Amino acid sequence: MKTDLPRNYQQLQLALSRIGYFRRGTLLKRFMPCGKPGCACQATPPRLHGPYYQWTHKVEGKTVTLRLTAEQAELLAGWIATGREMDRIITEMQRLSLQATDRILKQLLPPTRTTPRTRRRPEQSLRP
Ligand SMILES: [Zn+2]
Repeated sequence: MKTDLPRNYQQLQLALSRIGYFRRGTLLKRFMPCGKPGCACQATPPRLHGPYYQWTHKVEGKTVTLRLTAEQAELLAGWIATGREMDRIITEMQRLSLQATDRILKQLLPPTRTTPRTRRRPEQSLRP
């Protein structure tokens, strides 16, 4: 069946097969005050501490935060970008799939009736 798929769809399949590690969530770079009285972070204007890198993501509905080094943050930024690229590929595959499967379904539809008929029961939708 694979060879029957249009070229642009096959290109997306190939791109998807090349996707490496990915992560979800958000990467934050933050500067923060410490709370020590007299510290430069309390001055006006404040000189805040940082940068601190944080990765936040949801686990079973709860936000989980992980502190990262600059080096770790750089890796994570790449993995998050890979996740977005994967989403873009899948969204496009979904769009092309819907078009193609619509065509397939329409080819299999019975010919349209020209005379009205009495319905015995409501027509059932294929979609839930
Ligand atoms: Zn401070």
